[in-house]
Amino acid sequence: MTDDGKYTADQPKVPGADVIYRPAGNAGEYAPLATNPYLGCGHKCAYCYVPAAIHMPRPDFDAGAVDKPRWIERLTADCRRYAAAGETGHQVMLSFSTDPYHPGDTGLTRQTLTTLADHGFGFCTLTKGGRRALRDVDLFRPKRDAFAATLTTLDERFSQRWERGAPLPADRISALRFFYESRIFTWVSLEPTLDVEASRAIVRKTHGFVDLYKIGKANYLKEITRTTDWRDYTLRMIDLCQQLGVKHYVKKDLQTHLPPGYHNPLRVQQHH
Ligand code: SF4
Repeated sequence: MTDDGKYTADQPKVPGADVIYRPAGNAGEYAPLATNPYLGCGHKCAYCYVPAAIHMPRPDFDAGAVDKPRWIERLTADCRRYAAAGETGHQVMLSFSTDPYHPGDTGLTRQTLTTLADHGFGFCTLTKGGRRALRDVDLFRPKRDAFAATLTTLDERFSQRWERGAPLPADRISALRFFYESRIFTWVSLEPTLDVEASRAIVRKTHGFVDLYKIGKANYLKEITRTTDWRDYTLRMIDLCQQLGVKHYVKKDLQTHLPPGYHNPLRVQQHH
């Protein structure tokens, strides 16, 4: 899911598609296609809305990720469907309802990325798993694929409070730098925004090795949503990005605060 909590139902792009789908709503701003190889996630983010969205008890979801049954068989069948429809030119994102580099065995992520590439797709992983992702860096192709990390803070204690099962921000930043230096397109999800100054600090610290920032707010976190001046946040974020010369996309929830005519393309090329 996107960390804004707006889980949306699967919408297959190709008739009969089973596990590769077109995300709708807020999730659709992140990727044209997505797939979720696991059920559950061990990162235990306090703001995660997936358990509620899929009607799974939170303790079960937090207990860790489990491979979905017959995954590669189902994925391969979908790849063939998309290939037959001439729809393999997109990146497929992993993942919205789990994390591809969760704390358990992520061998299925490697198989998934390999299967997608073998059928002509590009791919993108969005993760809080940090340097765990380095085990698959050999699969990423500079001209097709992307690596993304969610960052909500640079502060370890703050992160442990909100994302108690996930690697610390420094570990995620290290992974971003590693992928960037491996010539892979990198982007950062600044969503949910839990602290305005934290988001600004993240951009200042990482802009030398991040190709794109996606800026969102904090939906469903009522206290933060209520007490944050989102207009001020949006304007200060775009001012900072412009000062530093970094590419950015402001998500729909904040677009009402953008200056008229502000250039804010939904899709940019996420590879080199
Ligand atoms: S990393 Fe896992 S627990 Fe955290 S928001 Fe994403 S799916 Fe939910």
